[in-house]
Amino acid sequence: RQGEANQQPSTWAGTRPCKRKATDTEEEDEQSEKKYRKCEKAGCSATYPVCFASSNERCAKNGYTSRWYHLSCGEHFCNECFDHYYRSHKDGYETYASWKKVWTSNGKSEPSLKAFMADQQLPFWVQCTKPACRKWRQLTKEIALTPTMAMSYRCGFVLILFCCAYLVSRVAEVIDSWWHSMLILPPLLKDSPASPFLAAYYPDCVGMSPSSCPGSGAELRDGSLGCLERVPGLSPYFQPFYQPNECGKALCVRPDMMELDELYEFPEFSRDPTMYLALRNLILAAWHRDCKEVLTPQKCAPHIVVRGLVRVRCVQEMDRVLHFMTRKGLINTGVLAVSRPLLPERYRSKNVIVIGAGASGLAAARQLQNFGTQVVVLEARERIGGRVWDDASLGVTVGQGAQIVNGCVNNPIALMCEQMGIKMHKLGERCDLFQEGGHMTDTAIDKRMEFHFNAILDVVAEWRKDKTQNQDAPLGEKVKEVYKNFLQESGIQFSELEEKVMQFHLSNLEYACGSTLDQVSARSWDHNEFFAQFSGDHTLLTRGYSALLLRLAQGLDIRTKCAVQSIDYSGDVIKVTSSKGSQWTAHKVLVTVPLTLLQKNLIQFYPPLPERKLKALNSLGAGIIEKIALQFPYRFWDKKVQGADYFGHVPPSPDQRGMFGVFYDLDPQGKQSVLMSVITGDAVPFVRDMGESEVVCECMKVLRQLFKEQEVPEPLNYFVTQWSKDVWSQMSYSFVKTGGSGEAYDIIAEDVQGKLFFAGEATNRHFPQTVTGAYLSGVREASKMSAV
Ligand SMILES: Cc1cc2nc3c(=O)[nH]c(=O)nc-3n(C[C@H](O)[C@H](O)[C@H](O)COP(=O)(O)OP(=O)(O)OC[C@H]3O[C@@H](n4cnc5c(N)ncnc54)[C@H](O)[C@@H]3O)c2cc1C
Ligand SMILES: [Zn+2]
Ligand SMILES: [Zn+2]
Ligand SMILES: [Zn+2]
Repeated sequence: RQGEANQQPSTWAGTRPCKRKATDTEEEDEQSEKKYRKCEKAGCSATYPVCFASSNERCAKNGYTSRWYHLSCGEHFCNECFDHYYRSHKDGYETYASWKKVWTSNGKSEPSLKAFMADQQLPFWVQCTKPACRKWRQLTKEIALTPTMAMSYRCGFVLILFCCAYLVSRVAEVIDSWWHSMLILPPLLKDSPASPFLAAYYPDCVGMSPSSCPGSGAELRDGSLGCLERVPGLSPYFQPFYQPNECGKALCVRPDMMELDELYEFPEFSRDPTMYLALRNLILAAWHRDCKEVLTPQKCAPHIVVRGLVRVRCVQEMDRVLHFMTRKGLINTGVLAVSRPLLPERYRSKNVIVIGAGASGLAAARQLQNFGTQVVVLEARERIGGRVWDDASLGVTVGQGAQIVNGCVNNPIALMCEQMGIKMHKLGERCDLFQEGGHMTDTAIDKRMEFHFNAILDVVAEWRKDKTQNQDAPLGEKVKEVYKNFLQESGIQFSELEEKVMQFHLSNLEYACGSTLDQVSARSWDHNEFFAQFSGDHTLLTRGYSALLLRLAQGLDIRTKCAVQSIDYSGDVIKVTSSKGSQWTAHKVLVTVPLTLLQKNLIQFYPPLPERKLKALNSLGAGIIEKIALQFPYRFWDKKVQGADYFGHVPPSPDQRGMFGVFYDLDPQGKQSVLMSVITGDAVPFVRDMGESEVVCECMKVLRQLFKEQEVPEPLNYFVTQWSKDVWSQMSYSFVKTGGSGEAYDIIAEDVQGKLFFAGEATNRHFPQTVTGAYLSGVREASKMSAV
């Protein structure tokens, strides 16, 4: 029991060995030992503690008490004040008891008297907002700090208790790391902006006070009310915190645990992470509540509402936490343009050259420039965007490259859309499979074959469990083998149609890999699925990815038509030379050119890239898919497709499976009449040397088969992509080749001597292939280049 200590025979504080520096006041201490008593907490610097509680007239104030209770080196309460609240016959008991009730029903930690004092009785501290002053002031105990007050507080505004010199010394101490180690209770914030996000948690486990969480508590902990209802206007795609027992969501943090990179950066919080979590959760929540403006320490500090000197410490730590999160691209990111550098000088690299103005290069350049680093982007083409390239000639925006977002929750693409007020089109589930001849496939058959298809992949997953990289096999071969065995063992005979539907699914897999299956690794084709992936809606960017990339590029120094030919990083200053002979120099260079261009040595590196990196580069495949888009005079498919976003094409034979496997309606439920389709797998080389009109002709043949019962009009306009022949891409997206592994992505991402850095879709092990992955790799490298 807490009260027991004061029944023990008194030990004179003055007789204990002094742990800190001896001072010349020690002699005086001994003389006055009857009048004063030191704090007994080992290591406490308070020679003359003062009671902050002053709860009754018997309070020891700055005089003698039989025992001091230590909260921090500058904060103590006397035994008389302890008794006042703790003893059931005293006046304060009711207050303590009712606080205790709230605390135990909401929180998980001990409702000790010390916790009560810290939560209810300590005075608040507030910083003067006058720029020339910025002094910390202690409020009288009765005044409860609010964010509004903290935002506008000026000295003299509220009565303060102590003289300035005393205040200054106490505040100065707080910065000391040792002060933190002498803090008895971690700060628990009141009314944190994070609280609506974290109602399902015990507040004290996520850095918040159980006494001031309106609407929290056990009955709400079932999570029946989502944060969407609690934070009006919050995008449904913003789910920065895991809910209890939830897992496997990309870019989601546990509000009650530090992540590895956080522990690495802030090891001092590893023992008790509460203060860190309180600040990080506050910052993350505040950012998601308003992602259109820069979040600064000045904006966050007023929301740190906690009693005691620890508030001073929190406000100080806030800077570092906020800078860390900014550097990592967890906040203050996306298309945000800033007027002032986001990071202090020490984080900024001298100057950086980014090669390539695709999603990854632009992301990195935007981040770096926002941090305050000088950046030049060199781009070979006369346009930016790389594999993002939108066409507007058919009446709607059609991505010749990327246009789909696969899983919007916490996806940076969704963040940018939110920042720009862009709405995405949610893709529906429905995708009817049409056969040549015009029939629609019975959904039962469709479902059954999808089941069998997944079962095949499951068997492959089982097979690979004990296989090393050397025992890898082509996915196509493995699938065929499993399929054959299955038919033999089960005695099942698929109908001709069922066989074709199976081909449709295989074609889809080839679309996903960007390759025929005989090149893809059976062991690692889906390596990234071992990491949390983006969940939630799949969407079509009706305005195209370019809208986002153009905004990212705004205000950046981008030199187009500047193809980099060689990079000499042998000296301290890196020399970059273009094909036209112009030269640039920088301290760090970020290479974001597509995988296949690195494989083909289109850029000369001096010295050559490490063997390990070259090996990794060649263990991945450069996938290719092509797209076709057709504009019609009217929506001839409407009656049959019934407003769905797409429909599938069941291939008439295995060797035709890559020709237009799926058709997307680019304005479903709308007026425009544009269909887009894909050419995948073996069909890619087949169309490579065909003229555009020939490919269109093939596509029209297919459409006329799928809609055999009706007239299909000639297209008014169209285009067919030629990514395979595009000098600056020559690919669509990467895949793991047979014998390769997901680790190759990490190796490609490794920097060389802290001078050469790499970003791009094929450097993102967790999220390869996508614009999201490319974007995040750029953010990652900007952070790496800005680490101190
Ligand atoms: C047809 C197709 C469909 C796709 N569909 C989707 C989709 O729906 N959703 C999705 O998320 N992803 C999709 N992707 C993939 C996505 O487009 C890419 O993963 C992403 O855009 C790659 O970005 P990046 O920055 O890594 O590379 P890039 O966008 O290729 O950027 C690299 C830049 O480097 C430049 N460059 C090359 N060599 C040099 C040089 N020597 N000097 C200077 N500059 C140079 C290039 O011109 C280019 O601008 C698709 C891709 C294709 C081709
Ligand atoms: Zn007291
Ligand atoms: Zn003490
Ligand atoms: Zn002031």
